[in-house]
Amino acid sequence: MGRHRPTNVPRDRFDFEHRPATDQSFENALEKARSGDRLSVADGVELISTGTEFEGIDPRRKERVLEAADRRRAETVGEDVTFVANLNNNVTTACNTGCLFCNFKDPATGFEDDPPTGHTGGPTGDGSDHDGFTKTPTESREIVRDAVERGIYEVCSVSGLHPAFALDEAHRAILEAAAGGTATGTASGTDPDATGLNYKPPEQYRTDPGTYVEQIAAMNVGGVHVHSMTPEEAAHARRGTDWSYEAVYGRLADAGLDTVPGTAAEILVDEVREVICPAKIDTRGWLDAMAGAAAVGLETTATIMYGHVENEMHRVMHLERVRALQDRTGAITEFVPLSFVHHDTPLNDRGMAEAGATADEDELMIAVSRLFLDNVRNIQSSWVKYGDEQGLKMLSCGANDLMGTILSEEITKRAGGGFGEFRSVAEYVDLVTAIGRTPVERSTDYRERRAIDPDDPPFGPTLGPEADGTPLVDTPSVPAGD
Ligand code: SF4
Repeated sequence: MGRHRPTNVPRDRFDFEHRPATDQSFENALEKARSGDRLSVADGVELISTGTEFEGIDPRRKERVLEAADRRRAETVGEDVTFVANLNNNVTTACNTGCLFCNFKDPATGFEDDPPTGHTGGPTGDGSDHDGFTKTPTESREIVRDAVERGIYEVCSVSGLHPAFALDEAHRAILEAAAGGTATGTASGTDPDATGLNYKPPEQYRTDPGTYVEQIAAMNVGGVHVHSMTPEEAAHARRGTDWSYEAVYGRLADAGLDTVPGTAAEILVDEVREVICPAKIDTRGWLDAMAGAAAVGLETTATIMYGHVENEMHRVMHLERVRALQDRTGAITEFVPLSFVHHDTPLNDRGMAEAGATADEDELMIAVSRLFLDNVRNIQSSWVKYGDEQGLKMLSCGANDLMGTILSEEITKRAGGGFGEFRSVAEYVDLVTAIGRTPVERSTDYRERRAIDPDDPPFGPTLGPEADGTPLVDTPSVPAGD
């Protein structure tokens, strides 16, 4: 059963300048989509809302949009359903940015050796119930090394904006000077509120995350593909300087960065960003960062995080900005719609978003992404957001990619139990063949592909630098007869 959001349909709760009203008709927009004409923002709004004159989503019109998107998917990429064998190695949950949709971060004060008086949260052994962490570069290297031996192709690393992070030692010296500290990093005068740079020296923290360059170099082990440094992290890696994004990403590429996750995009319309993530870079900053990565030859993904306070016009304006960026750079390998998960977020706690998108909205988001982004080849269905059943349904709404195995440190440490969000290659084979499509292991950039024969088990990754087809984790033995 889909998720229900009985109120706020159409999405009109916030007093935004941009409203989902157009002069276009649904039928005209659908005809353009079927013909393969480039869609305007008005066309996209008609399709994603199934016609703005109608209160809520028209189920018959929705099916026609999904059909058009599924046909476009088949014409563009055929019947393959791709996935990548990857590891998540997030370096730290310490973050002071305070995005209202986020339940990943922990206030960075909780990570300090001597937390400020009155601090009550964070991984300080003070009774709080979350599992905040920071890893050193050495720890990151060990985790990735272990996963590479298991056969993974890619390490994906996205982290909180730890105040001690700097791009490299040259950047640290600039931040230290601005903070009024010393090159060795005393704590005096390094209050991030005072500098406005969100910087404190690593000596102030229980665990030193090192620099971004050190972390990337550490994860660049055994030929693995390093997918890291979102635009927001790149902005953190140049704070307090006039360095270009191109220069920052060039330095990171030299250290071993291979591709860039286009997360932190949320909704690329500033009036929405001001509500949900006011401390983040603005739309222009995000686009500049992505262009900077492309300028040094790094390919990227792009995302949208929808289903919170934004309306249908914002969603399509976002698509238009991604499409224009791709026209300029050609660097975007895939687009990933991320449905907002509202539980335990400040947006939910404050009554600003009591629920996420409905299943109908999710399907239309995937379908209109496929139809609108005529220059992005791959559209991803995020099974961790949609769940298995709906995640598979998205593969007939315009999506062709089903994420990655998402091996995690937990799994590499405790292979055989507590898999969490892990998905094995064998599970991919089962899921994808069940809907009559072909499971295909891919590289991050989609250039390498291996179609999997479902009649030839065992199924393990084969594209990673040390992959040999062995399953990533040992399947717990099941007693005969069970
Ligand atoms: S910057 Fe990232 S980790 Fe920090 S609060 Fe925002 S979404 Fe969460």
